[in-house]
Order: sequence, then C-alpha cells, then structure tokens
Amino acid sequence: MTGHTVDVTVVGTGVIGLAAAHTLLGRGLTVALIGPSPMAAPGQASAAAGAMLSPFSEVDAAQAAERVELEVGQRLRSLARYPSWLAGLADAAAQPPVPLAEGTWVVATDAERADLAAIARAAHSASHPAELHHGTDVDGLRPETAATAALWLPTEPSLDITCLLRTLEAAVTRHRAARWIRSTATSVQVGRAAVRLRCADGVVVDCGRVVLAAGAGIPVLLGERARDLGIPPVLAGRGVSLVLDTPVATPHTIRTPNAAFACGTHLVPRGDGTVYLGATNRLTLAPRLDAAATLDEVAVLIGDATRVIEHRLAAAELRRVQVGYRPYTLDHLPLAGPTADPRILLCTATYRSGVLLAPLMADLVADEITEPGSLACHPYRADRPMPAPTLTDLLTPAALRGLADHLTAPGTRSSGPAARQLAALLAATLPAALTADDPLGTAMTRLFTRAPVAELLPSLLTLVERLETRPCPSTTSIPTPRYSSPRPVSGAAAPAT
Ligand SMILES: Cc1cc2nc3c(=O)[nH]c(=O)nc-3n(C[C@H](O)[C@H](O)[C@H](O)COP(=O)(O)OP(=O)(O)OC[C@H]3O[C@@H](n4cnc5c(N)ncnc54)[C@H](O)[C@@H]3O)c2cc1C
Repeated sequence: MTGHTVDVTVVGTGVIGLAAAHTLLGRGLTVALIGPSPMAAPGQASAAAGAMLSPFSEVDAAQAAERVELEVGQRLRSLARYPSWLAGLADAAAQPPVPLAEGTWVVATDAERADLAAIARAAHSASHPAELHHGTDVDGLRPETAATAALWLPTEPSLDITCLLRTLEAAVTRHRAARWIRSTATSVQVGRAAVRLRCADGVVVDCGRVVLAAGAGIPVLLGERARDLGIPPVLAGRGVSLVLDTPVATPHTIRTPNAAFACGTHLVPRGDGTVYLGATNRLTLAPRLDAAATLDEVAVLIGDATRVIEHRLAAAELRRVQVGYRPYTLDHLPLAGPTADPRILLCTATYRSGVLLAPLMADLVADEITEPGSLACHPYRADRPMPAPTLTDLLTPAALRGLADHLTAPGTRSSGPAARQLAALLAATLPAALTADDPLGTAMTRLFTRAPVAELLPSLLTLVERLETRPCPSTTSIPTPRYSSPRPVSGAAAPAT
C-alpha cells in the first residue's frame, strides 16, 4: 500500500474532473486525481461527446422563460471563459491551443419551427446573432427530407473532444503539484483530521477536501452514504455516437433541435478531418460502463442523419462507435459545491452541456474550496432543495407529446395526426395505469420512484411490454426502489433500460 497527502483529491478524470484539477492546481493547491486516462475509460461521457459549445441551440419551446434565462446565462458565462481557458491549458500542456470550429446551423421541419423560434429568441435576448434561412441553404447538404428552415448561430462553436482531453491530461500531468492515480476510488472515509480515499490498486490518499467528479459512477462509489451526505440522485443518460470518415465535409456543426428524450441529430467537424455523428439519450438505471452500443442505437443514428442532414452519410466509413453516460439529476441543473459534509464536494450532473460548462464548473468548485461559502446563492449549489417531481408534474402535455413523437417518429417532432392522437390517448390512460393497484401499476410506480424524470417515460412503456410478454407477471421480480427522495439511485438492476 502506498499513500499520499494532498490538499484536494479529485475523483473522476472526464472533462469535469480534469478541468477542476487544472484550476485547483492553478490556485496553488496540491491535488491528487483518481481515475483512468480519459480516452481509456469505458462509458465516459466526455470521450463520447460531440463537444458542441451550445448556449442557445439546447433551448426548446417547452421551457419556461425563467428557466431559459437561467440556463443560457450560465452557459454563456462558461463560453466567455473558453478563449482564456484554452490559452491557459495550452501553456500548461506545452501544446498548441485546441482550435474552435465556428458556428452552428440548426435545421428544422415545420413541426420544429417553434423550437427554432425559441432558440432565436434566446440568442437575441443575449444580444447574439441568429439568422433565419431557408432549409436548403445549409453548406450544400441534401437530406432525404429537406428542412423547411435553418437558423445560423455564428457564435456557437464546437471543438474536437479528443484534442481537449489530451490537452487537459497533459496540463495536469505536467504540473509539479499533481499526483495522478490511474485507478478507481473504492471508498471515501471521513476522519477527524482528513478524508481518506482508497483505490482499487491499494493506493491510499489523505486530503482536506474531495471533489467528486466521477459522473455516473458517483452512486456506485458512495452507495447508501449518498443519502447521509444529502446528495440527490445522479442519473445516467446513455448516449451513443459515431466517428465517421466521409467526403461529406462541413466546417460547421449542423444539428436539429432537441427532440423528445434525445438531443437531436448532430454532425460536428473534428480537427483530424473525421466527422462526429450524435447522439442517442436513454435513461439507464444500472449503467454497465463497458456495454457496447446496440445495433438499434447505431441504426437510429444513421437513419436520422441520412433523413434530416445528408443522405450520402449512409456511405461513410464507420471509424468508431462510442458509448457514454451523461450524469444528471432530477432538476437537470449541474451540482457544484459542498454536500452535507463540507469536506466532500460535488462537481457533476452537467448532463448534455458538460464540455461547454467545464471551465465554469471548475471555477465554481475551486472558488468554494478557496473561499468557502462562495456558492451559497448559486443555482448549481449541490445542497439546493430538490423535491422529487410528482407524476402530475411530469405528465405534462409537452412530455406526453414528446413520448408520442418518440413512439411514432423517434428523433424528431412529428407533425402528423398519429402523434397527436397517441398523445391524447396517453394523457387519458397513463395516469390511471401508473396508479392502478395491480402488478403493472405497482411496477410502474416503483420505477417512477427510482427516477422521477421525464426521460423515464419511454422506459415505462418498455416495462409494460416486458410484463405483458411474461407468462406469469409477478411483482416479486420487479426490483424494489432504491430511491425515495432524497435517496440516491444506486447501481441496482433496472427493469426497463
Ligand atoms: C453522446 C454524448 C454527446 C454529448 N455531447 C455534448 C456536447 O456536444 N456538448 C457538451 O457540452 N456536452 C455534451 N455531452 C455531455 C458531456 O459529455 C457531459 O456532461 C460531460 O462529459 C460530463 O463530464 P464528467 O467528467 O462529469 O463525466 P464523465 O466524462 O463520465 O467522467 C467521469 C469519469 O469518472 C470516472 N469514474 C467513475 N467512477 C470512478 C471511481 N470510483 N473512481 C475514479 N474514477 C471514476 C469514469 O471512468 C469517468 O472517466 C455529451 C455526452 C454524451 C454521452
């Protein structure tokens, strides 16, 4: 057994953990970093990310104005940090700065016009340009189904995530005050004098503070202790993405608006000439980090991309298939700062915007460590009240319409009558089915209690199918809930995903 004593230990080596470690080192602290090399960590969200830096195009029409203001405001704060952050990283890593690719096109069908308008409103409110074009004006691309409108967002860039992670890795590794333990943390013990972390390879680290940046791995690391620390559930949104070699080149990101329970289809240029195609999003209650993508996930990506972005993508060469688990929590805002024990801090739950938010998240957690209390009024503070939403909160017309879209035309918003009629049927029947005193109602309620978020809705229908196709439905085979607010979801078997 070997041991280290440092000011701060950061657990997790995705973009958030690496960014936090880099910033803490810059504040003159000694830092231990626990986790595998970022490009060699199965299931890591960061390595699978498209790395669009999207303050506006993540907005959708169903969001309330105050929520848009909050989210866009924080995303813009982080985007504004990017140029100096990348320059500082390049210096520390002794490498050229990670280049940014300019601009994003958001392409939309008639059914998505409201989202396009909401995105344009958000950009204009922040005094950023958003130009409406005809759908056929986009970089010469020809999808199977032509977009009817396209929004050009010149101030939304993207970057090559592989390049960013390598630069972050070099910046941290080169620092004299950094110790990188390329293992996995297995326990966090709080003593009177120090916090002690044990690693799978036998290394022990004693420190004054711990920053948990292990994303979807946090519930497994803490187990039942997460409840004592007042940590809300950290859920996992499984995402699959592809890296392609294709002559269909575009210098800009091209994406659709967010679709129900997924983040739209997007093509992102990468520094090495390949193209990134993303991404699926599926709530997964028991993430298996080494689980490969399914053919269905890959087929959905290819089908959506050829339909709405460029039909010739079907002939692209598939270089890599990536799977990552996006960490998020019940209110879909990140978690930064102290838990019930001020020595244990969270820096996670960045969901679909973690690459964009990395510099901001790193600043926030470093501010809290160097000046305790500085996050007391921040909307991301980890100890904010987070009541679990009720069924009525979640079964909104927008969510049910999203579920109907998901069933009739996955990946897009449908404009046809089938989705409307299905949404009406779900609104009339789902609340009763969910609360019925029968095996199906009980199983659905248990699942809902574990993860009360809108992303669960497709899983509820999968559960119906599973129970209906069993010879002898029995509630005893449904796992009991591991969470009722504020208990965490931990890595138990999930019935539906
Ligand atoms: C397909 C996909 C596309 C995305 N696209 C974008 C995008 O375009 N723009 C954007 O801004 N964001 C995007 N995101 C979201 C973004 O990737 C995440 O929000 C962000 O990467 C989360 O970073 P993280 O470091 O918190 O988690 P992760 O990247 O998952 O890193 C957590 C790390 O912790 C490690 N770990 C887990 N348990 C332990 C333990 N016990 N001990 C030590 N280490 C541990 C894991 O191995 C992992 O390496 C996307 C995500 C996905 C999956």
